[in-house]
Order: sequence, then C-alpha cells, then structure tokens
Amino acid sequence: MKRTEKVITAYDRYVMNTYKRVPLCIDKAKGAKLWDIDGKVYLDFFPGWAVSGIGHCHPTVIAAINKQAKRLLHVSNNYYSQPQALLAEALVKNSFPGKVFFANSGAEANEAAVKLARKYGHPKGKFEIITMTKSFHGRTLAMITATGQDKVKIGFEPLPAGFIHVPFNDIEAVKEAVNEKTAAIMLEPIQCEGGINIADQEYIKALRALCDEKDIVLIFDEVQTGMGRAGKMFAYQTYPIEPDVMTLAKALGGGLPIGACVARGKFGDVLTPGTHASTFGGSPIVCAAGLGVFEAIKKEKLIANTNKMGSYLRKQLEALKKKYHFIKEIRTVALIIGVELSIKGDDIYKECLKEGLLINCTQEKILRIMPPMTVTKLEIDKAIKILDKVFSRI
Ligand SMILES: *Cc1c(COP(=O)(O)O)cnc(C)c1O
Repeated sequence: MKRTEKVITAYDRYVMNTYKRVPLCIDKAKGAKLWDIDGKVYLDFFPGWAVSGIGHCHPTVIAAINKQAKRLLHVSNNYYSQPQALLAEALVKNSFPGKVFFANSGAEANEAAVKLARKYGHPKGKFEIITMTKSFHGRTLAMITATGQDKVKIGFEPLPAGFIHVPFNDIEAVKEAVNEKTAAIMLEPIQCEGGINIADQEYIKALRALCDEKDIVLIFDEVQTGMGRAGKMFAYQTYPIEPDVMTLAKALGGGLPIGACVARGKFGDVLTPGTHASTFGGSPIVCAAGLGVFEAIKKEKLIANTNKMGSYLRKQLEALKKKYHFIKEIRTVALIIGVELSIKGDDIYKECLKEGLLINCTQEKILRIMPPMTVTKLEIDKAIKILDKVFSRI
C-alpha cells in the first residue's frame, strides 16, 4: 500500500475531489486482469465503465495505435485523414446508411445529437427533447439537464430550457408529453447507470412509430451499450427498428477518448459547415484505435463470445440467487448485467475489491457487472467464487 498511499496523498493535494474513489491505484492491465501499483492482481469485471470493452490493452488496438503514432497523431478537421474516413465507414457499414460526427466523449456525442435534432426541428419551431427518468446522458450542462435524475442537477441551476422527462418503458407517458414543440425523443435502449433497465420490444416499436408519425428524431444513447456488449454490435439491433441517431463513446476507442454521433439517411446532412465542430474530434490516432476495436471484434468473434459468456455468467448468477435471499432480480442482456439486491450494495462492492474483483454498484442496490467481451469461463468461475464468498459473509 506504500506507493498507493503516496499517489492518494498527491491526489488529495492536487486533483479536484469530484469522484468517489476507492484506494486502488492501477498501474497496468491486460485483458480482464489488472495490477495495482503495489503489485496486487485483480480481476476486472467493470473495465473502465465499459471503456475497455474488449479488455485492457488489447494487442490489436495497441498495434493500431503504435502504427498510427509513428505517422500522424492529430490534424485539424479542415483537412482530411484516412483513419477518420475508415472509422466512419466501419460505423455506417455496421449500422445503417448515414453519416458520422466525431467528438471526444459520450456527453459530447449526445450534445451533437441534440444540436442535430434542434437544427432539424428549427424550421418548424420544434426544440423540446423528451428523455427518460433514471437516464444518464453525461455531465455537460445540457446533458445534466437531459439526464432524468435530480442528483446530477442540484446546485447547477439555472439549467438550459427545453428538456422534459417521462418514465422509462411507458409509451402512454411519452404520447402525453409529445406536442408540437417536440424535436426529439432520446433514450438508452438499456439504462446502465440507471440500474440495467431494459426497454421492452413493444415500447421501442411504438416509439419508432410515434417518431415517424410526428416527424420526431429518435435518438439512442448507446454510449455504454454500443460495440458488442449487448450481444449485437449495437443494442438497437436487438430490436426490430433503427433509430435516427445513435451516439457512441466508451468502448469505441478501445481505451482512447472518443465520441461519435451516427445519423441515419437525411439526418446525416442536418449539421453543415460552421454549425458544429470539435478540435480533437476524429483525430487519426483515436480513429486508428477505433478501427483496431472493430478489427479485434471481427477477428476474434467477440460478439459470439459475448453471447456465450453472457448466458454462462447469467446461469452462475441464477445459482447464487437460489442461495442468497437478498438477491432480488437478475437482469441481463449478453454482458450487460445487473444484480438487484434487497440490501445496499456498497459494502459488497468494496468487499469484492478486497478479494480482488472489480465490479460496480449503481442506484445503491444494483450490482453492475460488465466483464470484457474477451472474458473466459475460467475468469467467470473465479469471479463467481469471489461473489459467493462475499455474499456468504452477509
Ligand atoms: C458514460 C455515459 C455518458 C457520458 O459519457 P462521457 O464520456 O463520460 O461524457 C453518456 N451516456 C451514457 C449512456 C453513458 O453511459
């Protein structure tokens, strides 16, 4: 703990205290394994809030970064560079015909989506964005406004106008909220921070029909669900519809900061020169990493593994549920896993950490487990053993 404590002391002195941190200073990582600065080994079943979706330091991503780093790191968006073209093409070919705007984070990808929807609705006087309660869309002023949770808003008022929230999975509530000013409906097909809440098939189909009928932009925030974790390349593909706009970030850069706003058909032409920009957006080095992620997913058949390991992990968790009465419900879509407890999960998450397993706890009572898509049976067995041990002490 000696070196860890030294780093923590420096943080206390020099880094703004904006995060609830646990005393773990990570030094290096590979796949689902990571090492702290004092040499202790951990199993990571929540790699960087799903950023390291295909595992830490994936060799294909590292190779792509190394190759690109020797040629070109950054160019301004007044010029062209090949990696941005190739990554946009990969995104479109794996989703729907359309166009991509590149940003640097999830919040920025969502900002682009909301600006796009406002610009599209502007001639008709439409500006209002409907989002869901318990949603999470990021931490910029507009995105804390879009987020359907008071905890992110308090103290930052006045907030931007034109955002309203309705309950998730409730089509009647949306229909009631829609009016002549509605520009867009924005939601996560699976609310992750909100506690792994999965949108119903019928609900999504009805949203699509409503948006078509009223000329409303349907935006899917796939910042956390995108890039294979839902058992398809994008979570919307588990539904029989396409959104008009999809936002991505987290796992897309394989560990480097990226955001992408993918717009279908005519929506790809709404933002025009001078209406939106990002200095770092779509830089060659980050796009090369993104291409590495696509390459690895394809080459190693990681989506098939995600589905296989997702059902295996679910089965193991169901067995634990039979054993421990405080496990209320298990909600999963492939490797997006929520374990709802009837008790607070904070201590469980901290005990798991002590035992060498990294998971997350959200909304106080929901354990969020998102192993990398490269996860093996052996690693799952190891994690389940630790969970069992921690649960048995309660
Ligand atoms: C993490 C997340 C965001 C915000 O992404 P940042 O990169 O932190 O700005 C937005 N939406 C969802 C669904 C997320 O999970």
